[in-house]
Parts: sequence; structure tokens; C-alpha cells
Amino acid sequence: MPSAAIRAQLQDRLEDLHARHAASGHDGVEKVYDERRGMYPPEEAGDELDRLAIAITTVDGETFAVGDHDVPFSLQSMSKVFSYALALGRHDSDELADTVGVEPSGDAFNSITFDERHHRPFNPMVNAGALATTSLAAGDTPEERLDAILGVMRACAGDQGLHADEETAAAELRAADHNRATAYLMRAEGMIEGDVEELLGLYLRQCSVHVTCSTLSTMAATLANGCVHPTTGDRAVPADRVRDLLSVMYTCGMYDSTGEWAYDVGLPAKSGVSGGILVVVPGKMGIGVWSPGLDAYGNSARGVAICEEISKKLGLHLFATDDEDRLTVEATGD
Ligand code: GLN
Repeated sequence: MPSAAIRAQLQDRLEDLHARHAASGHDGVEKVYDERRGMYPPEEAGDELDRLAIAITTVDGETFAVGDHDVPFSLQSMSKVFSYALALGRHDSDELADTVGVEPSGDAFNSITFDERHHRPFNPMVNAGALATTSLAAGDTPEERLDAILGVMRACAGDQGLHADEETAAAELRAADHNRATAYLMRAEGMIEGDVEELLGLYLRQCSVHVTCSTLSTMAATLANGCVHPTTGDRAVPADRVRDLLSVMYTCGMYDSTGEWAYDVGLPAKSGVSGGILVVVPGKMGIGVWSPGLDAYGNSARGVAICEEISKKLGLHLFATDDEDRLTVEATGD
């Protein structure tokens, strides 16, 4: 546990961060996503654009949260972390390399482009790659396959009740032509096998799992804690594959602005079009941020700005050595 003084300071800083960003308007917001409407311009958004939550969970399981931290939203692309984690637990690196690469694509998340040299999707964090890793989930029925993915999510969240929101999944499925086209092309190219409609349903249900921002930061804290849940002790990913997961999040987790994110924030992360970002600070903490206004890449605009500030103020950039204002949130023994 951090000391009582550090804990109070951390909560104060989060309150201040939230207040400033809540008042900052919506600069940089180019679009908003809604399951029922798809992407739409911010001018058409109502109060949903003002939603804002920030949560930090330390690797010993204490959560500090501000704003709308108990309002549920869907994981969307953040779910790709957990289907990839499941695949890592079941397949060695050589087997997985036949299915999906670990190379940033430099393209938008839903781009129908492939790594032609290796004849596979570039990485598990873009849609094509996620369809490939999700296709590896084992089970005799779609329910069993979903349960396998949910098992990893639940181990990370310490929440056995986590489930796909079927209304969200149905809405996603009604607007799934782009993913459908991607999946059929992949099957035609021999990159995936089996029933494409079933795979699509499974992938969209994993995207439709609802979490709160506090749950998101707990899931991130589990990843930060070597993929062992801080309080239940459940292991979500084998110890020798944790580095694989975090490396791919670091190089591919923020769509085609991952390089900029790595430069500015310097932490493994994954975003989703719902406006959530899950950030891992290895050995220290997980961060969850949620704000639905998206930038041109499909990342939460406020979310990115907030994470930049947290990384700088807490001195969290993996390669930083010079942050002056850093607040060390580490065990003190008291
Ligand atoms: N369900 C969305 C899709 O696959 C998730 C995309 C995202 O969050 N980038 O299109």
C-alpha cells in the first residue's frame, strides 16, 4: 500500500485532473461512437460527450476513482487484449505466428490490409488480427468459446459476473458489414477457417462486454501485476507469455497513433471506440480512462490527453528518467 499521505495526494490529483479536463471542452473530438448509430459527428452528441471517468488501481488492489467511474460502457476493441491473452495461453509463439503477426500495421483499426509477406493479419490489436485470435478460442459451442474469453476477462477483473451485453451485441451485428467483409476475405485467403457468421457473432459479443472505469483499471492492474489479480491471486495469462501481451499492446494498442502514444505516454495500452483506454504500468498500477469523444484515430481525445498528463506527473513513461513533479505511488510498508 502507498502511505496515507500519498493516497490522499493521489486522490486529490485525480480530482484536479478530472475537474480541469471536464471543463476543457471538446477540442480534438472528431467523432463519437454509439452501438446503435455507429460513428456520428460530435455536433449531434448530447450529454454523452460530457461523460468522464478516471481510475487507478495499484498492484496491491487499491482503486482510486473519479467522475463517472461506475457507469458501464462496452469494451469494444479493448476486448482484443483478452482474446489474444487466451490465445497466448493455449498456443506457443510459433503456432501463433501462423495465425497473426506482432507488427504495427500503421493502418486504421478496421483496415482490410494484411501482412502480405507472411500472409496473415499484422497484429492482434487490429480487427483482422482480433478475428484471427478470436477464431482460436476453443469450445464445442459459441457459448463455450465466449466463456473461454470471458474467463480471461473475469480473472483480470476479479468479477465473475462479467458478461456480454446482448443488446449491444445485436446492435453491433446489425452494423457489421465491414467486419463481415474482412472475415470472409480472410477465410477465402486461408487465414481463418470455419463458420464466418459464428466467428463474427463471437467477436462482436466479446466487444459488447460492459465494464465500469473502475473495473477497467482493475483489469489493467492485473496485467501490471504479471497477469495475477491483485486480491484474488487468479492468474489470467501464463507467466512466460505476459511479456508477449504487453509488448504487442505497447507497439500496436492505440491504432495508427501507437507510435505517438509510445512517445508521449510510454506505456502498454489498448483503446476502444466506446472511448475507454486501458493502460498498464508494469509492476505498479493499472489506469482506466473513459470519455466518449474520439480523435481522428478513434482514440478517446480527452483520454489520451489525461493519460499523457498522468504519465508525466507520476513519472510513469517507461523510458523517462527526468520527471520533476513525479509522485511515487509505491509500497512504503505502512
Ligand atoms: N466492435 C468494433 C468493431 O469491431 C470495435 C472497434 C473498436 O473499438 N475500434 O468494429
